[in-house]
Amino acid sequence: MKRLIHKGLVSGLAVLVILSQAQVAWSRQAPVRGIERIAGDVYRFRDNHHYSVFMVTPEGVIATDPINADAARWLKGEIARRFNKPVKYLIYSHDHADHIAGGEVFADTATVIAHDNASAHIIGERRPTVAPDITFSDRMTLALGGKVVELIHLGPNHSDNMIVMRFPAERILFAVDIVARNTIAYRDFPNVHIDGLIATLKRVEAMDFDILAPGHGPLGTRADVAPHRRYIETLRARVLKHMRAGKTVDGIKSLVTMEEYKSWEGYGRWRALNVEGMVRHLRLYRRPN
Ligand SMILES: [Zn+2]
Repeated sequence: MKRLIHKGLVSGLAVLVILSQAQVAWSRQAPVRGIERIAGDVYRFRDNHHYSVFMVTPEGVIATDPINADAARWLKGEIARRFNKPVKYLIYSHDHADHIAGGEVFADTATVIAHDNASAHIIGERRPTVAPDITFSDRMTLALGGKVVELIHLGPNHSDNMIVMRFPAERILFAVDIVARNTIAYRDFPNVHIDGLIATLKRVEAMDFDILAPGHGPLGTRADVAPHRRYIETLRARVLKHMRAGKTVDGIKSLVTMEEYKSWEGYGRWRALNVEGMVRHLRLYRRPN
């Protein structure tokens, strides 16, 4: 009996090991993808931790970030199957490869649009995607099949070519990498102009929309923007205070704990990196005596 139990335990463990191996293999092979309707004819497309949006009109589809070639092929197939419409426009939020790789998948039917500053990075850094056909500087209103999306550049922030996309009839704002709901900033602010980001978020807070569709994390509302901006401002003020007091980077990292944000996404992984990035930014944009 004892031997039987022992054998049962061993085979149980073996099953567990096989299951966990299968899970690892599954997560590597099968990305989490999906399409959900946000409002009206605007939908949200997910590929693992990345999201973009698209709008269906009687004359075709306006798509945004393709995310990567595999995801884009999947999305293209789903759009054809569900809506039977070609993708007429593809809009890049900004030049970073993790959001706009795979644009070539839509190039047979779509005109690609991005900010003026995006092309030089896309071509120069050899982003795995197609360069835009049309670029603009401040604002562009795109109309198709009686529907409208506004493309708005709010200055340098997460990159020098970020655009937010407002769907006025659906009251949705698609904003990538400048804000996520109850989430601290990403790593050490790579590529980010921090003061520009704070100014951008203030402008977003003053925009007319209800639903925030970020490039990462769950859907939110306009009210989710200000807390993220206040986090960055508070971090900036605390880091600056300690820099003025002559503290070292390590000292500042242990002093600026941002305790009240403990429950936010990314706190454990990125809080210390956020402090490092802020020190670097303030060294560049501050002149001590
Ligand atoms: Zn980015």
